[in-house]
Amino acid sequence: GGIADWVARRAVRRPDATALVDVATGARHTYAALDRRVGARAAALAGLGVGPGDRVALLGENSAAYLEWLFDAARLGAVSVPVNHRLAPAEVAHVLTDSGASVLVHSAAFASLADGTDRPLVDLGAEPGDGTVTPQPVGGDDPCVIMYTSGTTGVPKGAVLTHDNMLWNAINMVTAGPGIGGTDVTIAAAPLFHIGALGLSTLPLLYAGGTVVVVPSFDPAAFVDLMAREGVTTQFLVPAMWAALTRLPALPPLPALRWAISGGAPCPVTVIEHFTRLGWTFTEGFGMTELSPAALFLDAADVLTHAGSVGRPFLHVDARLVSEAGEDVGVGEVGELVLRGPTVFAGYWNRPEATAEAIRGGWFHSGDLGVRDAEGFVTLVDRKKDMIITGGENVYPVEVEQVLHRHPAVADVAVVGVGDPQWGETVLAVVVPDGALDPAEVIAFARERIAHFKAPRRVEVVDELPRNATGKLLKRVLRERYAGQAE
Ligand code: ATP
Ligand code: MG
Repeated sequence: GGIADWVARRAVRRPDATALVDVATGARHTYAALDRRVGARAAALAGLGVGPGDRVALLGENSAAYLEWLFDAARLGAVSVPVNHRLAPAEVAHVLTDSGASVLVHSAAFASLADGTDRPLVDLGAEPGDGTVTPQPVGGDDPCVIMYTSGTTGVPKGAVLTHDNMLWNAINMVTAGPGIGGTDVTIAAAPLFHIGALGLSTLPLLYAGGTVVVVPSFDPAAFVDLMAREGVTTQFLVPAMWAALTRLPALPPLPALRWAISGGAPCPVTVIEHFTRLGWTFTEGFGMTELSPAALFLDAADVLTHAGSVGRPFLHVDARLVSEAGEDVGVGEVGELVLRGPTVFAGYWNRPEATAEAIRGGWFHSGDLGVRDAEGFVTLVDRKKDMIITGGENVYPVEVEQVLHRHPAVADVAVVGVGDPQWGETVLAVVVPDGALDPAEVIAFARERIAHFKAPRRVEVVDELPRNATGKLLKRVLRERYAGQAE
């Protein structure tokens, strides 16, 4: 049932179409082969007593097998729990305990993270046997995955995503922009333990009957060669990965590429401009784990006229911007983005209070602040938690970062608020330099382009910014590091 049927039905209709390519092993699986492999893995899990509603934790780098386990759990009516392997051992243990996983499927590389667990262990990469199972009936409202949020603002929360959530998210993707169909090819390069790669490209492509090429890790030069070799048509990456591609000396010709998608964090406008100048159909999407994740996107046609905007809702998403009192804000006024529709998650696993706080009056409260123009284009101004209040004025760090990205000596930048006895908070820019950089000159550069109260009062130069596995800035780490430090 559920997403497992996608594979079973394709195996009947187009058995010989290529479903998965595993770059690490060189294996290529047709839909017929994938269906057999999923059945055999499901039989192995059933042999360990896994049944409907049980949680199956997945710990491994991206691979074709990883996706097979996801589908075979669904075939048993079980719930997959992708685990972030970059977490510390104690954090991995927390996810296993929190989700109540009854089995841990892990790859050899992460054996040490699996140490000490008392659950049955399964080798993620082992070749499936030749067993098979009778698929369990699965309802649309039944949980499909528990996907942990990125932990950018705090401890990761388990978002329960149902089979219908995944289906409607796939429909949102295949009906967006240039669309997705059975001849599309993509590379799963961003980690599959976050919702981005899974929800914005991998699952919609498999739903549509296309081909997913899976790489265990991301190397920019090898990645673009692979894009050319496999004839990639549709590609999602997070902004930090797209930015890495802009720094390559050259790209191979990519005549098959029809749709490039960035999402998961603000994409520097300079990166969007870079690919748009190459003639690419480059779109920006806004998503959240709790939205399965596709929520808003900016069509390629609007990318230059609405630079910096995340666009308008996908086909089956309702979105509003509301005040603290829950009323719609006017055009140009800052409000919290709230969303409704069939892709809104079922709730946070084991956290009824957090769920009740997030879903109010039928609307999911994103914690992201934005403004919209008269045509409904939404521009995110920042997360509520990241907003800086300095001398009574609101400063949205993302706006300041977009300006500083245009400075030639700025390779990377994060803007945060730090406590200040005079101003309440003061604007701090933490900059990774590209060559020689003069902090006073960077401040002057900002002051020429935005209001003085928004420009940084202080610039710190560092070698590297703290980022998570998908390249999201961990601003809470910077706030802690610079809190209370005198200028
Ligand atoms: P946590 O909820 O644990 O703090 P997180 O919110 O980063 O982590 P995700 O669900 O992976 O976890 O990310 C969703 C968030 O990412 C959104 O709420 C938004 O702040 C940010 N985001 C996603 N896409 C974009 C985008 N295109 N532009 C700006 N921000 C984005
Ligand atoms: Mg979040």
